[in-house]
Parts: sequence; structure tokens; C-alpha cells
Amino acid sequence: MKTTRSTCPYCGVGCGVLVQQHNDGEVTIKGDPQHPANLGRLCSKGTALAETIDHPERLLYPEVNGERVDWDTASTAVADKFQQVIADHGPEAVAFYVSGQLLTEDYYVANKLMKGYIGVANIDTNSRLCMASAVAAHKRAFGEDLVPCSYEDLEAAELIVLLGSNAAWCHPVLYQRIAAAKEANPALKIVLIDPRRTQTAEIADLHLALTPGSDAFLFNGLLAHLADHGFSANDFFEQHTQGAEEAVQAAREQSGSTAIVAKQCGLDETSVERFFALFASTEKVVSVFSQGVNQSSSGADKGNALINCHLLTGRIGKEGAGPFSFTGQPNAMGGREVGGLANQLAAHRDVENPAHQKQVQQFWQSPTIAKQQGLKAVDLFEAMHDGKIKVVWIMATNPAVSLPDSGFVREALTRCECVVVSDCVAKNDTLDYADIRLPALTWGERDGTVTNSDRTISRQRPFLEAPGEAKQDWQILCDVAKKMGYASAFHYQNAGEIFREHAALSWYGNEGKHCFDLGALTSLSPADYDNLSPIQWPVKRKSSDVSMGWESSKRLFSDGKFFTKSGRANFIPIHSRLPVSTPSKTYPLVLNTGRVRDHWHTLTRTGFSQQLSGHKQEAYAEIHPTDAQKRGIEEGAMVSIANQLGSICVRAKLSTDQRAGSVFVPIHWGRDFSNTSLVSQLVDAVTD
Ligand code: SF4
Repeated sequence: MKTTRSTCPYCGVGCGVLVQQHNDGEVTIKGDPQHPANLGRLCSKGTALAETIDHPERLLYPEVNGERVDWDTASTAVADKFQQVIADHGPEAVAFYVSGQLLTEDYYVANKLMKGYIGVANIDTNSRLCMASAVAAHKRAFGEDLVPCSYEDLEAAELIVLLGSNAAWCHPVLYQRIAAAKEANPALKIVLIDPRRTQTAEIADLHLALTPGSDAFLFNGLLAHLADHGFSANDFFEQHTQGAEEAVQAAREQSGSTAIVAKQCGLDETSVERFFALFASTEKVVSVFSQGVNQSSSGADKGNALINCHLLTGRIGKEGAGPFSFTGQPNAMGGREVGGLANQLAAHRDVENPAHQKQVQQFWQSPTIAKQQGLKAVDLFEAMHDGKIKVVWIMATNPAVSLPDSGFVREALTRCECVVVSDCVAKNDTLDYADIRLPALTWGERDGTVTNSDRTISRQRPFLEAPGEAKQDWQILCDVAKKMGYASAFHYQNAGEIFREHAALSWYGNEGKHCFDLGALTSLSPADYDNLSPIQWPVKRKSSDVSMGWESSKRLFSDGKFFTKSGRANFIPIHSRLPVSTPSKTYPLVLNTGRVRDHWHTLTRTGFSQQLSGHKQEAYAEIHPTDAQKRGIEEGAMVSIANQLGSICVRAKLSTDQRAGSVFVPIHWGRDFSNTSLVSQLVDAVTD
């Protein structure tokens, strides 16, 4: 039996797995007891990974306009099209739309090609949808996109607040860790803040089923309460923060009493008082915020409203305390490190900062550098719809299902002169629109790294042969870059070489100005890279001589130093607002979307596992019995759900877990799996 250590490809928890290949060809998967993220645990998806490695619908050969071609023809076709569009319409007419499923090394190369060689920042990632508002909240408060906590803080906390997070289904191993911590320490209190009663509520001492979108009102109210009742950590915020007065004043003006907050959030006053009292009286508080608050037209404000409360009480940079953003995808964090978002450069440098532009261009020795923000996900597809983007390369993602207003996105893809898609599967909703299809490697075949929610970098290692002619995304990108005339900058031989360059860029000219620093990993030998154990960034050199060792940080800001110009954390005054779309006479119900426990994204992997599909076999709409009764809807009936953007038809599931006035539909079923269940077509493309 051969055992390979790797990392689960599904979610931002980033669990370590042991892949065991038996002599009879059978593959079994176990949790890696040595991996700090999961300490041997796995959830249902991780456990069933072996069931999904023989995918029946792999894309095995490159295709141009539906014809199988060789790689030379395919990469020439992509390079020629990009060059023709750049020559005719300028670099602003081309774009990459990439994914938190990519490994850091793939992401790094894609970003370098677009920002340093094509010279625009028209590369954005599907992590925009799940994480961008958390990134903005971190940058506003801390000066850099930094997650202060470690998973261990969940076990050290005395109060865990889960905001917009159904961890039981979306981050199951972290939920298991929290549940185990509570069992070991019954004094640990858990507060769940979510309009729905999800499975996560089973371990909660208090569930606040607030009005959808009202989270910032609640945290503004908490800030005012803490300030007005003597719970401020004066020494901390006087020495290490700025702007407290304005933030508290804004909070007081809007949400100055528990009675007002209860009304704003649709809660009873006693529950609000209980939450405020728990937060105020507990020193070790970890506040988890996740996709339920990030995916919002005021997601960044919600993040900052919560961070403000930690800054006021000094509950940050300490064991068992801090705001903690759980990332959605396996490499959402890695993408942010390399600049996968259209408003970042690379290595946490800013695209519109001239000094950062100079630094990155010098390091890359590139002919040009992006100087302005590029098109972000929703804007990118709008520009495509308007004919401004003529060629797009979509990597490892399925925007025809996953982007909001997906009917519009499909029209944009139809209108685009040339759609290139690199993916491991031969069939998904987006591939239907592709002019050029490029077969990519997937989990078990790819080699590289991912970074999870607590900044831990882990290796994904190959244990399977590459099927057909599939290549890793960075190799496909390098082939195209060479054909575009950039051979010397894209001559990588392996993933380790790219990782070392990524690490070196984070160190280049850093001098302590950026927390993201992998300086100590710049000289990893090929064997060191192969054997790299999970490691949490920053991984700083102790001195300029790398052989002198390195230091890492489990917890950021324990020295009270932040990465703003002044070195102090910023309070952000929050003027809370409810979502742009509110119920009306014509459309009286609020639609909420989310995940189910055993499926991942658009079913392209988990949809082929019998075991995982057994949990939820089809899309459904969870409806409160009162709302159902008013409309004559019975359990199991097929119901039509419509708004101004379109309609879907799914099975009704009556449940008091759902707030009256709200309907929940899961996101996973695209047209490829179910012709009537594409819920993203009903989601308005309103951005933050
Ligand atoms: Fe994989 Fe996430 Fe489950 Fe861990 S919690 S096994 S990373 S899906």
C-alpha cells in the first residue's frame, strides 16, 4: 500500500488527508492526524473523496470549435486570439475569470501573465463572490487582508459567535471541533446569528433568527452597548486603534438601545439583551463570519461592524479571541495571496499604488504592469454582454451556474467573440458556451499548494496518472504565454519553482511593511517543497540570511501592531442598511440561497457520488408552513418560485426552521443536472 499526504479539495477548512492506494487498486481516504486543521477528522465529503476520483465525464483532449486538436494547435489558437484582440481593441478587451479551486501556483502564473505581461488587471476570481467583502473589511480595519486567528482559538474561546455561518454543513470539521470543545467545556457558549435555524443551531445556546441582512444593525447596537456600559478596553484602543469615537457615535445614533436594535433586526428584546450581556461579560470571544454576511450588498460593513466590537474590547491578537472569517473555497486565501482579485496586484500589494506597481514590475522584470483596478466578476460579465470584452479565459469554475443573474451571464457568454474554458470535466453549463476547451488536471493529479482559512499552507500532492492529454493549469498558461512571446518569464519546470518565486515576491522589498511574508520559504529545495508540512504564514526570515531560520505567527496583532500607515487599527463608522431588494406586494417573500451538507459547488464532482447524492437528491425550496398554507402548498409539491428575473420549479419542503416570509433554495443544481432548478437566475447581481 502506498500512502500520499494531501489536502481535501472542497472547502476552506483545508483538512489534511491520507490517500491509501492498495495493491488491488482500491483507494481509501483517511483524515491526517498530523494536519493541524483537522487532526484526523473528515466530513462526509472528504470521506467520500475516493468515490469521486474516477470521474465518468473527463475532458481528455484539447478542442477548438468542437474538433479535437493537439496542444500546439490549441495553445496557438488561444494565444493568437488574445493577441488579435489586444492589437485590435487594446488589452482592456481581454479577461481571465479564475477560481478558488486553482492551486496557488496556477493562480500565481495566471495573475503574472495578465497583470505583468498583458498589462491590465482584468483577472478576477469566483472568490469575489464569497470573500471579497471580508477582504475589504480586513483591509479597512487592519490595513491588509489579514485573518488574525488560528483554529486553535475556537477551542480556547469561552464564547463563539457564528454570524452568517452554517458551519455544520459548510465547514463541517470546524463545526466538529467547536462541538467537541463544547462537550469538553460546557461553559463554552455558542451564539448563532442566522435568519434560518440550521443544523448549526443544535449546539447553540442562543439562536438569533434576525431579519435577513440586518446583521450590521445588531453589531452597531452591540458596539454602542459596550461603549455605554463600561466594557471598552481603554488602554488597548487608545494605544493601538483610531476612530473609535466616530464609530461609536454612528452606532449610537442608529442603534442606540436594545429596544431599537430588536426592532431593526426583527428579534425579541430579551434575546438581544442576552447576546449583548454574553459578549460584554466574556473575555475570550471568537466571532466567526462567513458567506452569509459576505454575500451581501453591505458585506464589508457587516464585517467591520463586527470587527469594531473586537477592537473596542481589545479582543484580538490574544488566545481564544478575535474576528475570524471562514473562507469558502479550498484556496480562496491562496488566491488573495497571489492577487487573484482585480483590485490586487500580487503578494498583498495594491494595484493602484505606484510604489507597489514598481516593486512588482521590477521583481517580474516584466514589460508592463497593470496600473488600475480591472473588471470585477459581475462587471466583467456586464462588459462582455456590452461587447467590451471580446475574449475570456475561464479556469476551473462554472459561472453559468454560480454567478448571480445567470440568465444574463449566459447571454454574455453567447455574445462573447471567443470563450476559452479550461476544466477537468467535459460537461458543465459553462462548457456549452466554449469555443476552445482545454483539459486540466484535477485533485489527485495536480501538484501544488493551497491556503486555508487560518493561513495554513498545505500541499496537494499527485497520486494518480494524468488522464488523456490533461495538463495542470499553470502548464497550459505557460504554453500560451510562450506563444504570446513571453517565453523567458514562463519557463517553469515544476510547481515548486513557481512557489519559490511567489515566496520571493512576498519578501522582495517587504521590510516588515506587509504581514504576508513567505521570506523563509524562498530557498526551499525541490525535496523540501515535496515534503513541505502544513505551515502557517507569515513565515518570516529571522535575518536576511535564510539559513538562520524562520518565525511564524499563530495569532496576528498580539504586539498591537497593525498594517495601516499609522500602525493602528481603524474603527470604521457603520451606517447600516438593509438589502437593496426588499419584499413587495408582487414579490412578498425573501429568497435566501446556500449550500447543502454533502454537495459542493455545481455538482461537477459530488454529483457523481452515490453516497453524497443520497443526502439531498434534488433541489428544493424550504418554506415556512404558514407561508405554504397561505398559498395552498403541500409538502413535496412542485412549486414555482419567481421574481422579476425569471422562475424556477422545485419541490416544496415545509419547515419551521425557515423564518416566515423567507424561502431557502440550495445553489448546486445547474441546468446540466436539473433543467428547472437554476436558482442563480433569480439572484439579483447587486454588488457591495
Ligand atoms: Fe474537506 Fe472541508 Fe470536509 Fe475538511 S471540512 S473534509 S476540507 S469538505
